[in-house]
Amino acid sequence: MAQSAQHGPVVDDSIPHSARIYDWWLGGKDNFAVDRATGAAMIEAIPTLPAMAKENRHFVHRVARHLVAEAGIRQFLDVGTGIPTRPNLHEVAQGLAPETRVVYVDNDPIVLAHARALMISNPAGRSTYIHADLRQSEKILSDPALTETLDLSQPVALTLIAILMLLDDADDPIGRIRALMDALPSGSYLAITHPTQDFDPVAVGAAVAAATGNGMTLVPRTHAEVERFFEGWELIEPGVVPVLGWRPEQPVADPSAVYYYAGVARKP
Ligand code: SAH
Repeated sequence: MAQSAQHGPVVDDSIPHSARIYDWWLGGKDNFAVDRATGAAMIEAIPTLPAMAKENRHFVHRVARHLVAEAGIRQFLDVGTGIPTRPNLHEVAQGLAPETRVVYVDNDPIVLAHARALMISNPAGRSTYIHADLRQSEKILSDPALTETLDLSQPVALTLIAILMLLDDADDPIGRIRALMDALPSGSYLAITHPTQDFDPVAVGAAVAAATGNGMTLVPRTHAEVERFFEGWELIEPGVVPVLGWRPEQPVADPSAVYYYAGVARKP
């Protein structure tokens, strides 16, 4: 990544970035013309994309509540955090258990610029931020912000929410996340959401073409491909399902209306 002597990593406003497109869909202001153009082209293919992004955020809240309240988790490692969106993961988790510790990781300089907002923790707990790439698991695991915040002898929830589609198969996403999963003890959890082409191949194909045509990597994956990320860990009910159908708080008429899969597994 480009570095500037005074300011660290440089924000590149010439190619669209996932964090900024996603921010725009969610109604945020941290995005450039190039992001809005790509985001809008994707919305032409799938008009409900902003609503889908919001449903993905609702899953973040739901899964945090489940992991803290039902599974007893007090430590999170969230890779691909995105631009802060309230409530952030640590705010939901600490709302239930103030002592919860959260380490956030992202590789986008614009997220780094907002890291301070992610680090306003309940004093009983802690939240920290690491500027790093999912593909550098050793760097993440050895960073003092991680080793001083998380106790890796106790269960950790690794959350990979809407990030793995930004790695193509040549990036070996399975191998990359395996390195993180292997560092966590028994009783840890893995939560993933991932966009899919399974429910509307034509529209998703067109949205992906709009993104990749502008220089982004975006890889929707099938149910079987998403399930493979959890291999060796035990998927908790209801398994890998459309995100709307993952432990919904209200009955959902058509879970496949949102083109993301979600799943959560426990390390035996
Ligand atoms: N998890 C958040 C944000 C999703 S947007 C949510 O679901 O609400 C995807 C995020 O992943 C972006 O912030 C992007 O910068 C980050 N990202 C993409 N590739 C990454 C990589 N290789 N390493 C770390 N972060 C990455």
